[in-house]
Amino acid sequence: MRISYIYKMENFKISNAAEAFLKKEQHDFFINNKWVRTDSPKTIDIVNPANDSIVGKISVATAEDVKNAITSGKRAFQNKVWRDMSPIKREQLLHNLADLMQDHLIPMAEILTIENGKLLSHAKSEIQGAINTFRYYAGWATKIEGQTIDLSLRQKPGFKNFAFIKKEPIGLVAVIVPWNFPISIATWKLAPLLAAGCTAVLKPSEVTPLSTLYLAQLFELAGFPPGVVNVITGDGESGAALTSNPQVDKITFTGSTQVGKIIGQAAMQNLTPISLELGGKSPAIVFDDADLTAAAKGVALGIFRNGGQVCVAGSRVYIQKKVYDNVLADIISEGKKMNMSDGFDEKADLGPLVSKKHLESVSAYIAKGQEGGAQLVSGGSSPNRQGCFLEPTVFSTTDNNHLIVQEEVFGPVLVAIPFDNKEDALRMANDSRYGLASSVWTKDISKALQCVDALDAGWVFVNSPSRSDPNLPLGGNKNSGIGRELGKEGLYTYLKTKGVNIVY
Ligand code: NDP
Repeated sequence: MRISYIYKMENFKISNAAEAFLKKEQHDFFINNKWVRTDSPKTIDIVNPANDSIVGKISVATAEDVKNAITSGKRAFQNKVWRDMSPIKREQLLHNLADLMQDHLIPMAEILTIENGKLLSHAKSEIQGAINTFRYYAGWATKIEGQTIDLSLRQKPGFKNFAFIKKEPIGLVAVIVPWNFPISIATWKLAPLLAAGCTAVLKPSEVTPLSTLYLAQLFELAGFPPGVVNVITGDGESGAALTSNPQVDKITFTGSTQVGKIIGQAAMQNLTPISLELGGKSPAIVFDDADLTAAAKGVALGIFRNGGQVCVAGSRVYIQKKVYDNVLADIISEGKKMNMSDGFDEKADLGPLVSKKHLESVSAYIAKGQEGGAQLVSGGSSPNRQGCFLEPTVFSTTDNNHLIVQEEVFGPVLVAIPFDNKEDALRMANDSRYGLASSVWTKDISKALQCVDALDAGWVFVNSPSRSDPNLPLGGNKNSGIGRELGKEGLYTYLKTKGVNIVY
């Protein structure tokens, strides 16, 4: 039974394209530029977390389905149609895709809001950001370069070396993506790997696969050869079949640290290169000399945006003692101002969390936070209404080892901790198994730069919450991952190096 698109039509009008897509009885896989129905009896219902209604049904890929998708991607890599296509043609196809995404921005954003719960305005910016990322990497397709190098090798007197380093596409890439930013994160992987001349099998999260399936159809329309991009859907087992297959030449994964470690072990069985973008517990440090109004707004935005379901969310805030009470009060007031509603409601500031299961997980952390002695100073409850909503929540504690300070909650839950001086703040900020992002709020540039040096994190933002840009590499230290995506570094992760020497 599928009723949500009717609900949407009654309450908020959606585009004909999104409506037609959501009316499909069951969504198939996209393999070799064809829509393929599996024999697998297993399906998964996709639920709109704003109203608990079922909005679609996906097939769960069996080991055989996964193998078919891998064969398609591998063939498309080995037949060289894609990797030997001239760079300028590859660039053009990536721009064609970006143009089509621009044309389809509204239906894609609507589907994203329906399956994920995020605000429609945020879904639109997510798609726009993905378009920008495809255009950014389209430009890189024509700029891949190796280098010439001098060697000390001497064959015989009078002979010389002409040695160079050549960059080649790594091959077929397994792409595994979570539910919090399904289109952004898929794009951060697909755009550079396609610019590099690789092919892909993409598996979106079982919670939010629909916007990705909608995107899949655009690859064919844009003119990508068959097999270059393949999309399968399924559960963790389908993902495991993908990451353990020795035909896969590279794995790129974004998700929890726990699953990242499982995938890492599977990758090592075949010595498959791997990039991991994992969890975070990112600190924000507010010094007493900061623009305190801007800091409170920025910290609130950094944790409550997208319901805190953001890997780089600033979920711990260290506030200098002299201004602790005032800044904390302002952050709480920012949270209280937020209007919780369906993502389609133009007055909404905060949508639901992604699923009932996730709401339960976040609520369990809130309960454990209170049991462990942290003071719940704001929020903590779900409003009495349909859907997976949770109030912006703030804890206060002086115990940096507290579970609510150390564990990734992945919800709109902030913990505030007072500090005396810079050294104190940096020691507590770095005392975490994670090292993804961080932010520092101060008007003193020397102090800001000292924090930039000292913070053990892949990102440091000064006087701003963390925000992604196609040209800014993203990735974590410690348990937050291996490797970087975005920027030039995010392209070269899909290229392998060949050393060549010609003796003449
Ligand atoms: P997971 O890490 O479990 O899932 C991420 C992706 O990995 C999904 O596509 C999932 O597929 C897939 N997957 C799961 N198990 C395997 C496996 N054994 N082999 C291959 N692929 C697999 O994240 P969850 O969605 O369960 O979220 C749990 C927690 O993870 C959150 O509460 C949050 O703390 C963290 N998280 C972090 C993110 C980040 O950006 N760093 C993003 C999302 C979550 P499927 O969904 O089909 O099971």
